[in-house]
Amino acid sequence: MKVINSTRAYLEDQTVQELKVKSHDKLAHRPPRSTRRELIKKSPVKANLTDYESTRLTFSWDQAKAELSYFAEGKLNAAYNAVDRHMHDGRRNKVALYSVDINGQIEKFTYQDIYFSANRMGNALRQLGIEKGDRVFVYLPRIPELYVTTVAVAKIGAIAGPLFSAFGPDALRDRLLDSEAKIIVTTPALKARVDEVRSELPDLEYVIVVGADPSSLSPGELSYEELTELSSDKLECTPMEPDDPLYLLYTSGTTGKPKGVIHVHNDILGHHMTTKWVLDLRDDDVYWCTADPGWVTGTVYGIFGPWSNGASVVTYEGRFDAQDWYGLIDKLKITVWYTAPTALRMLMKAGDELVYKYKLDSLRHILSVGEPLNPEVIRWGMTVFGLPIHDNWWQTETGMQLIANLPCLPIKPGSMGKPLPGVCAAVVDDDGNELEPGQLGRLVVRPGWPAQLRQIWRNEEKYNEFFRIPGWYFSGDNAWIDEEGYFWFVGRADDVINTAGHRVGPFEVESALVEHPSIAEAGVIGKPDKERGEIIKAFIVLANEVTASPELIEDIKEFTKRKLATHAYPREIEIRESLPKTRSGKIMRRLLKAWELGLPTGDTSSLEDD
Ligand code: ATP
Ligand code: MG
Repeated sequence: MKVINSTRAYLEDQTVQELKVKSHDKLAHRPPRSTRRELIKKSPVKANLTDYESTRLTFSWDQAKAELSYFAEGKLNAAYNAVDRHMHDGRRNKVALYSVDINGQIEKFTYQDIYFSANRMGNALRQLGIEKGDRVFVYLPRIPELYVTTVAVAKIGAIAGPLFSAFGPDALRDRLLDSEAKIIVTTPALKARVDEVRSELPDLEYVIVVGADPSSLSPGELSYEELTELSSDKLECTPMEPDDPLYLLYTSGTTGKPKGVIHVHNDILGHHMTTKWVLDLRDDDVYWCTADPGWVTGTVYGIFGPWSNGASVVTYEGRFDAQDWYGLIDKLKITVWYTAPTALRMLMKAGDELVYKYKLDSLRHILSVGEPLNPEVIRWGMTVFGLPIHDNWWQTETGMQLIANLPCLPIKPGSMGKPLPGVCAAVVDDDGNELEPGQLGRLVVRPGWPAQLRQIWRNEEKYNEFFRIPGWYFSGDNAWIDEEGYFWFVGRADDVINTAGHRVGPFEVESALVEHPSIAEAGVIGKPDKERGEIIKAFIVLANEVTASPELIEDIKEFTKRKLATHAYPREIEIRESLPKTRSGKIMRRLLKAWELGLPTGDTSSLEDD
């Protein structure tokens, strides 16, 4: 594999420390200088992980087990660690969940509330015949019952299947059929979509409905409230082998048909430690993970990780809305906020004036995951929140964060950070040989981290593909490592563009594009070209109040040429109202490409369609 092209220098420009003194002209509505300086000066509290280098040398996952509770013979249960143990560690009456409904009403649930409710639901499921290993799907909006049901399923050793409540009937059918789910828990509104495909799901025995009028239910449908009211609130967690399945989650579907990834109870060890180090949660934090549990981030870092650490978690039922989001941070005094680049770009698009209408100084730590985090977004975060945004990298398959910008390390905008203690990540060629710093290659990880995928549901061949590079787990992403050990994401292995012999990652072009003041979002693909092999084509969404013109397109081309290199600017630019995205907020470049080339669009069950 070749050395990456010269455009790299653009990304590796400066660390956040340097950014603090850099002026920035895109932001028209900045607060007065004095306020800005004050914001930036805000010094973060001491991090949970303070010494990266020495921890990396001494840490072992075996030793970290001391942070968890185990049953006899090394058995454990993730739900015991997330909830039950807080009945005896002084957190019993601590708020486990701030549930904010669609109208902004806030309800609080203590660890004890979650414990008893999950016990009731666990007993109800058992009475319905659910046994260890059975699949129970959770098809709910972000309401408390989603959290309770997930814990209940784990307590009895069944496998939880999180589903986005926005999924349509086709997405449901594919996942329930593939996994032979026995039960689905849903609401009356969502049940209509289950009804559409129920006749095609021979294994689905019961539909449990939250908030239904019991008289409206048909045979095979049960009221959640009736079931749980009648059951006992005493339930011991089933002791599980570390490798027994905990949840089954389908990947985002960004690159193709979603894969059913099996994760196990042992994952909780990884959830716990990464939450502690990367999210840096402590007892007085109010933590908001904006991800829906239908996406791995929402399950791992919206439920198991933070609860295992005894944190107070915020969940918001509503959709993205810049005012609602800022309002929520302000009202609940949120301190740690885990979100995604797409949301941050939309917040940027909503304008800086809006940010300053709210009091957001409770925030002390901001994180992002799911897609490359454009350096521009980090700079914006520094200006409006006075805090750097910490990018981190992982996948549904890896089950936990593996590479991160830890609070104790300087951030290089555009870099995903460094591998966590206990994680050995590398960049290799196709034969598994480690490459020199600066060389572009495959991003791989040494197998053996606690939350590593255990199977692709009934698809051994697909599972084996992850281990096709000898000695490594292959992520499917391309990256390079700099001299200081920072990892830089270049793109999905399949997305890398080869234009006139230069290899260009879509991310660097997209990042340069969104630095243009007129551009809010950008998706870049390689378009086949007789002369150059491929040319770079960009699909862009304009910033608010910007109108398209041929001059603007020319200006954008010149701008990217200057930022990157003459070979790396988009020769074609198309303006769109929006970009196709998965439910987890990722730009679906494969759809842009299929549309561009008039090819079949493949599986679109996880496409965000409204
Ligand atoms: P599918 O596997 O079905 O195509 P997906 O890969 O988007 O979908 P996820 O497991 O949700 O499904 O996403 C993991 C991928 O997201 C990573 O392989 C990487 O391409 C991208 N990603 C995650 N975090 C980052 C990050 N911090 N920077 C760059 N890319 C990221
Ligand atoms: Mg993937």
